[in-house]
Amino acid sequence: MTDPLDAPMPYRRLGRSGLQVSAFSFGSWVTFGSQLDTGLARDCLAAARDAGVNFFDNAEAYAGGESERIMGDAIAELGWERWSYVISTKVFWGIHGEVPNMRNTLNRKYLFQAIDGSLERLGLDFVDLLYCHRPDPNTPIEETVWAMSDIIASGKALYWGTSEWSADEIRAAWEIAERHHLHKPVVEQPQYNLFERQRVQKEYARLYEDIGLGLTTWSPLASGLLSGKYVDGVPEDSRAALPGYEWLRDLLTDPARNAKVRELATVAERLECTLSQLAIAWCAANPNVSSVITGASRVEQVHENLGAKAVLPKLTPDVLAELKQIVR
Ligand code: NDP
Repeated sequence: MTDPLDAPMPYRRLGRSGLQVSAFSFGSWVTFGSQLDTGLARDCLAAARDAGVNFFDNAEAYAGGESERIMGDAIAELGWERWSYVISTKVFWGIHGEVPNMRNTLNRKYLFQAIDGSLERLGLDFVDLLYCHRPDPNTPIEETVWAMSDIIASGKALYWGTSEWSADEIRAAWEIAERHHLHKPVVEQPQYNLFERQRVQKEYARLYEDIGLGLTTWSPLASGLLSGKYVDGVPEDSRAALPGYEWLRDLLTDPARNAKVRELATVAERLECTLSQLAIAWCAANPNVSSVITGASRVEQVHENLGAKAVLPKLTPDVLAELKQIVR
């Protein structure tokens, strides 16, 4: 049998922009800083890149800034040429504690400070993609759009987008940019997996055609639930066992969801792939998804998950309909 990792990596345009990203990418939430030091992070990044990944996701808030520092150091150690990869970060929550203007905001003051901090930790002159990590109801969207557009104009980011914004908020931002000839948001980063489908499939439906919205989607395994590792409880070396992530435990050990996970596993078995590969490939089967951001706490998971490349062609309309029936 051929190694699924040898399957070609598809590259897709980020929405209507010209930027090409690997259909499967790699992010650092929870893992970098809490589970992976720079050495292990480097090994995971290298494994992802060897499998064809060109897009790496991060955020200011991950591990209080440590995740950006680790990714920056690891990439520097790997010696990757800056032109050869796409890197993103996200800003909103802030990392300076309860300081006015530096927490839970998208005001102009914060955005200008935040991008400088991220670039310093990453050791870069610019990020390819900068996201507003959440919407900010206390700052006019117009102020945020002007600031993001100005950051693009300054060269500190090449494209910008949103994460977990409502369809109305995304459309409002796009229209403000259109009206004032500013740089428009090109991408949204929502959660999307077999258990979390509503926003991507229903709420955003008009935006793909109307404004050419691209998607980089997060938690394809619903934090590991869709790997099947929680069907018999919480493994000691899993995310749900980490201090600070107690809030995830009920979701990951939910009996109804794990019963569906068992059913999904029978489909994976028939397709001769692992459940994780099936779940990750399912996200990429949606043509509106530009890139599925995977996560991993060890190199073996990176290898397994990126084998999803080989599973994607197996997701025929019949298989997709069967999966839909199971998770309904
Ligand atoms: P997943 O849902 O795929 O969960 C990844 C975790 O599942 C791993 O860290 C690992 O945790 C476990 N896992 C992964 N592969 C396997 C496997 N093959 N077998 C068994 N367990 C496995 O993705 P994430 O939740 O990590 O999200 C991916 C990325 O998306 C993030 O890194 C981040 O870049 C982005 N993101 C963005 C958000 C946003 O608000 N914009 C929010 C969340 C994530 P363990 O081994 O510890 O159990």
